[in-house]
Amino acid sequence: MRCAVCGSEAGKLAEGLCSECYRQRKVRVELPSMIAAEVCRQCLGVLRRGRWHRGAASLEEAVEEAGAGAIEDSLRVSGLSEASATIRTLKLSMRSPREYAAEYSVRVSGLCGCEQAEVEAVRQVRVRLTLCGSCHRRASKYYEAVLQVRAHGGLSEELREELAEAVHEEVQRRKEQELAFITMQKELKEGTDFYFGSAKIAKQVAVALQRRYGGSIKVSTTLAGVSRSGKTLKRYTFAYRMPRFRAGDVLMLGGTAYQVLGVSAGRLRVLNLKSRQKHTLPESLAESGELIGRAEEAIPGVVTDTGSGGVEVMEMQGYSTVFLVADVKLRAGDEVKLLIDSDGRYHLLATPEEAEDGRRGEV
Ligand SMILES: [Zn+2]
Ligand SMILES: [Zn+2]
Repeated sequence: MRCAVCGSEAGKLAEGLCSECYRQRKVRVELPSMIAAEVCRQCLGVLRRGRWHRGAASLEEAVEEAGAGAIEDSLRVSGLSEASATIRTLKLSMRSPREYAAEYSVRVSGLCGCEQAEVEAVRQVRVRLTLCGSCHRRASKYYEAVLQVRAHGGLSEELREELAEAVHEEVQRRKEQELAFITMQKELKEGTDFYFGSAKIAKQVAVALQRRYGGSIKVSTTLAGVSRSGKTLKRYTFAYRMPRFRAGDVLMLGGTAYQVLGVSAGRLRVLNLKSRQKHTLPESLAESGELIGRAEEAIPGVVTDTGSGGVEVMEMQGYSTVFLVADVKLRAGDEVKLLIDSDGRYHLLATPEEAEDGRRGEV
C-alpha cells in the first residue's frame, strides 16, 4: 500500500496516509509560547482557574506546581487518541524577588492512526509572586469578627496562654481556607480579644472552645459600613465565656461537695465526694454552687486504714490523721489527694479510677 501524500510504501495506512504524513497533517499539539502563572508569596497559594489552592510546603514547590498547572490548562491536543501528557520540571530560576522562570519538558503521547506517537516540547512559564486576596487583606489588617475570650474573675496567665494556643491551633487547622488569619490580639484585664479575618472561622473557633471547655457564646453585630455594591457590612463579636467551673474544681451545692470531672457544652460531669456517685449537672444549676477549691490546691495523703463507711488518711502536709466518710475502694498504702476547705473540712478528691470517663444519673 502506498501513502496518498508521499507515495511511500507502508505496511499500514491511516486514512490513506503513512504514519509520518498522518502525524504531520493530523496531530496538533498546541501550547502557547508565553505561559504565565501566579503564586501568593505569603501563603504559597497557587492560582488556578480563578481559585487559590493552598498547601505547598515551600515556595519552590508552589512555583513548580503553578507552572505545571498552567501548562496543563493551556495544552490542546488533537489527532491523538488515548493521549496523555507528562510534564517534567527542567529548572526553576528566580528572575527577581517577584518572578520565577520555570522550565518544563512536555511529552504528549497517544495513538496516531494505528501507531503510537510522541510529541515533545520545552516551555518556559513565567510565575509571578503576588499576594492573594486573603493575604492582601491580612496585610491591611482587615477583620470581620472579634472573638472575646473571657472567664469568671478574669483569666489566669496559664489559662490565658492555653486558650490563646487553642485559638491559634484552630485557625491553623483551617489555614487553607480564605481569610484564615488573626490580624490582632489584644490582651485585656478581663481576657483576650482576637481579631479574625473571617467571621465564619471566628464562629467555628468559638464553638470549638465551647466543645473543649464548656461555657457560653454570645453573638452580636455592629454595622461596619457599606460595600461598593451597596451591601451593608456587618462586623461580628463572638463573646466566649469560660464556664465558672472547670475539671478538677470542687464545689459545694446544697450542702454536698462535688468535684468536676469534665465540662462540655452546658453540662458538668461531677463526682459526689460523699456518696462517690457520678452525676451530670446542667451548667445553670452548677452556677449556683460555691467554689471551695481547685485540684491544684490539693495536698497529698496516704491511706493508713480502711473501715466500714470510710477511710483513714494521713495528710502529708501537717502529718495528721483524718477519718473520711466516703464509700470508696481504697487500700492501706494508696496515695490520695485531699482538699481542705475554708472551714477546715477535708475532702477526698477523685481517685484516678473514679476520674475515668463514665456517666451515671442526672441530678
Ligand atoms: Zn506519507
Ligand atoms: Zn496568600
